[in-house]
Amino acid sequence: MPFSPRLAIACVIIVATFALASLSAREGDVASKGMNARWFQHDIRRPKPPVVEPASGPIASKPPKDAVILFDGTNLDAWKSREGGAARWKVIDGTMETVPGAGMIETKGTYGDIQLHVEWATPNPAVGKGQDRGNSGIFLMGQFEIQVLDSYNAGTYADGQAGAIYGQYPPLFNASRLPGEWQSYDIAFRRPRFESSGKLLEPARITVFHNGILIQNNEEPFGPTSWLKWLPYSDQGSRGPIALQDHDHPVHYRNIWLREIPERAAPTAEVLARPNVIKLPTEVLDRYAGRYLTDPGKPNVATFARDGDHLTVTYPFRKNTLVMNAISETEFDLPFTDGRYTFKVDASGKVTGVHFRIGDGERDMPRVGP
Ligand code: MG
Repeated sequence: MPFSPRLAIACVIIVATFALASLSAREGDVASKGMNARWFQHDIRRPKPPVVEPASGPIASKPPKDAVILFDGTNLDAWKSREGGAARWKVIDGTMETVPGAGMIETKGTYGDIQLHVEWATPNPAVGKGQDRGNSGIFLMGQFEIQVLDSYNAGTYADGQAGAIYGQYPPLFNASRLPGEWQSYDIAFRRPRFESSGKLLEPARITVFHNGILIQNNEEPFGPTSWLKWLPYSDQGSRGPIALQDHDHPVHYRNIWLREIPERAAPTAEVLARPNVIKLPTEVLDRYAGRYLTDPGKPNVATFARDGDHLTVTYPFRKNTLVMNAISETEFDLPFTDGRYTFKVDASGKVTGVHFRIGDGERDMPRVGP
């Protein structure tokens, strides 16, 4: 074949296009998931979250009636030392203060899914810099640290500043208040789930509001907090303590409470068992086709129609048509809703209306025309 410059150029373009496509596919894979997509822990090049000014004024939040009170300013009765024995932190002026060297404290009670409220204040005047500045932390289930740090106008790596899921997720915003000012965390924690074999079924999930600002939005930790390396999840049971960190700085806490979040009820087999769907002759379905008032006294009209071997209903205020399942000659269920239409037929065989039940609501819908 004679040499053709045009063919050669075309080949070069095709090869280059494929090369670029495969390169961007690889970058996409890395960006989407896997170890390689994670930032190195404490990478100083990781962008710092933007500073946002939280609302001023008191942040105190009164515990709801059903809250478990972990600290009300009077005593450390709900706490013990992580090493065992009594918690050796101080109670001063309605606050608890970390005692450098006294070690971490943790709740005597253990908890799984929770809503947790914590108020804290770092030393004023501020002392030290980076991680050595008002450092403490709140460990959920004793495993996942939400960082407590003086991050007001103070630099450190992004995944270690106040509100970070330490070493993993920087806060989305820096909502820090001044050193010495009371600050709040409101945390929603969903514990990790495991199969009975110990295999991870669902990672933990953490949402945090810092001084009213959303800074962690349903994040999934890679595993428990660990320094300088990643640790995999391991099944530690369905409950664990809330622990507070002693990082050698006198950080204050007050007004700590939580609410336990129950499991959502799963539908039982009895609930999931639906009536048998039957097939009605098209002439029966055609009898029900027509227009019906949705609410007596209102002009809205729902239209029932036959579509093939199904009856459908369309409401004026929602555009998509609902397909109904026949379960008897006059009764129809909705496939995804606890709702039932029961057509009314008079002695002469004329369809006069339909009774509609949805959840605990019931209404009669008179027929107003074909
Ligand atoms: Mg800490």
